[in-house]
Amino acid sequence: MAITPIHTQNKTDLLALTLPQLQQWLVESGEAGFRAKQIYNWLYQQLTPDFSLMTNLPQVLRTQLAAEASIGPMIVRSEMHSKDDRTRKILLELADGKLIESVLMLYPPLGENSARATVCVSTQAGCAFGCTFCATGQMGFDRHLSAGEIVAQVLYFARELRATPWTATGLPGSTPIDHITNIVLMGMGEPLHNYANVMQTLRILNSPEGFNLGARHMTVSTVGLVPAIRKLSQEPLQVNLAISLHAPTDELRGQTMPVNRKYPLRELLAACQEYIATTRRQVTFEYVLLAGVNDTPGYAHLLGELLAPLAQYAHVNCIPVNATSADYHTPGPEAIRTFRDILFEHGVSNSVRAERGDDIAAACGQLRTRFEKRNASKQ
Ligand code: SAH
Ligand code: SF4
Repeated sequence: MAITPIHTQNKTDLLALTLPQLQQWLVESGEAGFRAKQIYNWLYQQLTPDFSLMTNLPQVLRTQLAAEASIGPMIVRSEMHSKDDRTRKILLELADGKLIESVLMLYPPLGENSARATVCVSTQAGCAFGCTFCATGQMGFDRHLSAGEIVAQVLYFARELRATPWTATGLPGSTPIDHITNIVLMGMGEPLHNYANVMQTLRILNSPEGFNLGARHMTVSTVGLVPAIRKLSQEPLQVNLAISLHAPTDELRGQTMPVNRKYPLRELLAACQEYIATTRRQVTFEYVLLAGVNDTPGYAHLLGELLAPLAQYAHVNCIPVNATSADYHTPGPEAIRTFRDILFEHGVSNSVRAERGDDIAAACGQLRTRFEKRNASKQ
């Protein structure tokens, strides 16, 4: 499908273009196509934010680019670092004034594994799916983000790490990390609702001539849009898939996730099975633990029974809820332990996501909500 680049003040956002599209755009503007590779190198390998610094381009071209093109225009309205500096969050203002959030999560090297720097990006301003525990879901839907607006979030943190590599405190011998190793589409919005722009983003970031991030280092998280999951399984670019499950029965899931009324569990699980059969890849099932709601031993058994047929192809990520309203509470360590042990009894592999960034409102949508409330109270 052809992707129309977004034009801000009549400028073409180059971050929305794949390399062949950039080439085509240059040729249509009367320029030599080979400049595209040079520009791609400046954008994604040198991480240059400004055309005037692209010194191997002729001066006339640099001036023309500055007049006709842009590099992900957006304003950083606030940047917060957690006390341990392992979580950083930015609030970005898009060209039309919409606000979105992106998060950088830094992980020190563990055992054999090297350090990781993961960017969690937004794919929409707001979200149309209204999950009851999610701050973004409570805002409603504003609009889809363009591929350029998603790519720009990654480049922001890539530049920050390039300028100041991060070393885990207390691990003086570890190599500083100066580049992004992973991206997760787990910020504001539903990635598969913005399918074309999301796939375009992944292709751009995957390009060996550009950012060169492997598909295995990208994760798409979905609320469970069945037709889009099927489509994703047919894509040549095989990224990781995470399904926001959060309940093992239609009754409970329908209460917290309205989407379940459209795509009930039976259909969702059938699509996952198809995805696994086609790709032979493991699927992660995210399970936000809501104390007293979905974290009881009874629900753990039901979840185990639901996923046991997928055997080693299912992994559950237990996520203690980041409470965004008075309605939900984070379970204590014992409830989490019991829940996980029951899953193990059913042979379902699982892990628990370490809470992070509490002091900077790290759950998706929380920072924007807080920012808007503060501004409203000032008026
Ligand atoms: N819309 C997509 C991706 C964005 S949300 C999806 O729903 O999968 C990314 C993950 O954060 C989802 O698993 C979502 O359920 C979870 N999430 C939302 N609100 C949360 C909260 N308050 N605490 C913990 N996780 C939350
Ligand atoms: Fe949207 Fe995902 Fe939040 Fe649900 S959890 S409201 S799908 S962003």
